[in-house]
Parts: sequence; C-alpha cells; structure tokens
Amino acid sequence: MKKIALIIAIMAGKFASCLSRILGTGGTSIPGKIALRLYPHILSDLAANISEEIFIVTGTNGKTTTTNMLAEILKEKGYKFVHNSAGANMITGITTAFIKETDWTGKRKIDYALLETDEANVPLLLQQLHPRVVLITNFFSDQLDRYGELNNTINLIKDAVRDTDIELVLNADDPLVTHFKNETGLHCWYYGFEATNYDKLQGEASREGRYCVFCGQELLYQRFHYAQLGKFCCSECGNQNPESNFTAHSLILTPKIEMKINDIEIRSPYQGFYNAYNILAAVSLAKLVGIEDEIIQKAIANYEPRAGRMEQFEIDKRKVTLILVKNPTGLNQALATINTEPTPKAIFFALNDNVADGRDISWIWDADIEQITALDSNIEAIVCSGLRSGDIALRFKYADAQVDRIYIEDELQSGINKALSVAADATYILSTYTALFVCRDILLKLQQESITSADLIDQKQKSSESQG
Ligand SMILES: [Zn+2]
Repeated sequence: MKKIALIIAIMAGKFASCLSRILGTGGTSIPGKIALRLYPHILSDLAANISEEIFIVTGTNGKTTTTNMLAEILKEKGYKFVHNSAGANMITGITTAFIKETDWTGKRKIDYALLETDEANVPLLLQQLHPRVVLITNFFSDQLDRYGELNNTINLIKDAVRDTDIELVLNADDPLVTHFKNETGLHCWYYGFEATNYDKLQGEASREGRYCVFCGQELLYQRFHYAQLGKFCCSECGNQNPESNFTAHSLILTPKIEMKINDIEIRSPYQGFYNAYNILAAVSLAKLVGIEDEIIQKAIANYEPRAGRMEQFEIDKRKVTLILVKNPTGLNQALATINTEPTPKAIFFALNDNVADGRDISWIWDADIEQITALDSNIEAIVCSGLRSGDIALRFKYADAQVDRIYIEDELQSGINKALSVAADATYILSTYTALFVCRDILLKLQQESITSADLIDQKQKSSESQG
C-alpha cells in the first residue's frame, strides 16, 4: 500500500514537472508540494536511495555558489547526485530535486545528495534526512538591528544538530560559526584563510560578530578578511579561531582568483574574496569525499560564473558584470570588487521589494556605500532603477555621490541603456533577486546584438577589401 502511494506521488510530481516545463513556468517547488501532499514520507523514502552521503550546505551568503562548485566536482568525477537549484531550497524544492533524479519506482540508486538550504529550514530538513555533513558558510544579518533574529536562527540550527552523529564543516574565520563545536560536541572540520594581501586591520561597518559568544567581551581582531571574518581572539576567555583542516593561502584576487588550499593549486574564473571562500568551502567538502586533487582543480578551473554571480558580458567592447545583491555584506563585497577596477566605470542598481527580494529595503542603509563615492573611485554614473529606484538614489546621495551623476530610470531596459551610454570602460549591473533574470535577459540580448553588428562591420570590411 505504502509502495503504491509512493509511486503515485512520484508520478504526480514528475507529471507536474513536465507540465511546468511545457508551460514554461519553471516551477521548482510545486511538484514537490503535490508529491508531499500525496505521500508525506516521500523525501525520507527517496533519500534512502542515496548510497554514499548526504551533504547540506547552509549559512547566509555563498551557499548557492559553494553547492554548485561541489556539484561540478562530483560531475567531473562521474558521480550521480541529487542537487537542488537556487531558489528551491525549502523542503518542497528539495523534494522536487529528488523526484527529478529518481525513476518511477522510486528505487534508483544515487551516489550523493547535495542540498543547499536556508538557515531557518535546517531543523525541518533534519527531521526528514540524515546527512553525514552540514556545512556552514557564515552568518550575517540582513539588517544590523536584526542580530537578535540571526541569533535565534543560529540557536535553532545548533539545537537541530545536537545529539546527532552529523559532522560539521565550519568556517574557521567566522566567530558566529566556530562556537558550534563547543556547544554541540560534534566532530568538526574547519576551513579558513591565512593572512592575505587583501586583509584590513580595521573592521567594516556591518560587522555582527563584534562580541565573544561565550563571555560577551569585545573580540580583538588581528586582521579582517571581510565583514566579521578574520583572525580574532577574546582576551577574557581565550575564544579564538580553531586550527583549520583546509587552509587557503597565497591568495591572488585579480584579475581572477588564484590560491593554494593546503598543497592544491587552485585557479578559478571567479572574482571577489567571498567567492574565494566559496571555492575553499567546496574544495574542503570534495576532499572529505576523497576526490583527487586533479579532478578538483579541473572542475574549479572550468566552472564559469553563474547568473548574477559576477557573470561577465561583453557589449560593444565594454566589460559588463552582473552581480546579485541581497544584503549589506554581499553588497559591501560587490562594491569592494568594483573598487579594484581602476578604469572609469558606470553602475546600474535595480532595487526591487517583492517578497523574494525581502519587502524591507532598509538594508541598503546598513551597507558601506560610502566606500565607492570617494573622489578617486572613478564612478562616471550611477543609474538607479527598479521598483524602489528613488530609495537607492537617496542612499547614494546620502553617501555623498555626486548628484549630477545619479540618474533615476525606473524601467530596467532604459536604465541599462543609460548606464551603457556613459563613457566608461566597465559597467556593473547590481540587482536584487526579482530583477536579476530580467536584467540578465536584457544583457544577453544586447551582447548578441553587439556580436551581430560587429560581424556585419567585419563582413563589410572584408567585402570592400576584396572589391578593392
Ligand atoms: Zn570570551
């Protein structure tokens, strides 16, 4: 009886997936939702087919890129695995991912499951699945005044993993993450950075981990990698970075990421310190799986940036970079990366406040926008767009950006056109989630048009040369 219910639920889920593909709605949660309604144990039943391990990746920033990179490594190795996509990281989306990989009988063997999930979803997920590893990337709050909420989430995860045999893989540089060892007693692996040339001696504006989680004393930092990630210690109780099992060193960030992780030389087409952390996290998991260095190196080197993760376009010989922004720490990192570009540049910022973006946009006031409005920062134009274009324009104005260089264009297309019309060598398209794919489509179309027109000019030149 149970088996029939499972098969019906799988069939319904697969049918719903098919239908949403045909309708082009791309629904990643509805198939799972339907299947769970028909057979509530479907997730744990399908998870029983995982022959090796289940890995869960959580934390505030970087879980999508970390999970995608590990997926690339597993693919390179030839493993079969379940992997949920970004934006489908609740129980329903994860169930959809399992349904996609299984067969009609629900018996197909799969090597690994690689699941990214929101922090708040971890307790629920652990009721259904028994992962070997939970990896925590970092904890940042969406807004400075929301540290209380973040703290609750951290405690929920701690309670959910306590009294299990899960192994934790933790960011050794984040004081909000490292204390999981003491408070859960679980086996922990750590990854972290040695000193780099990009470290700062002063903390950044939005820094949550200012105080020791054990005794409340203000932490002393020797150096910051970014935000509260860095080398810290507490003078009161001795709380400090644990020793890393996977240590990144010799970091180079420009033009592309190069570093060593223990003895493995890593090269990646990604940019930005936060992506170096994502690579480090993915490589740490891959080493725990036992994958060979050469396979890891190859997969990371071939892994191109995905939608909005520093994705590159070339439009009329101009470098255009698309960056997803959603919280102060992510925005600070994006702006820091923009600052490393020495040439004149234009910025486009699409700020939406739909549910998937977060209705409350006050986080833009917690970001250190001031870092790019210094006189020598070479910003030729700031185009403000999206549903809350006026709010982001006001934020730039308060950050002392030159008012005659701030433009408001509510429409994404005309805003992007405006940003590209400015005399600048590089253009950065920053976008919150619900505007991201619209912006991406516009950029792809413009890129295609610029290739086509370049081809035309090329052909004309060739034909005039052959005639001459
Ligand atoms: Zn302390």
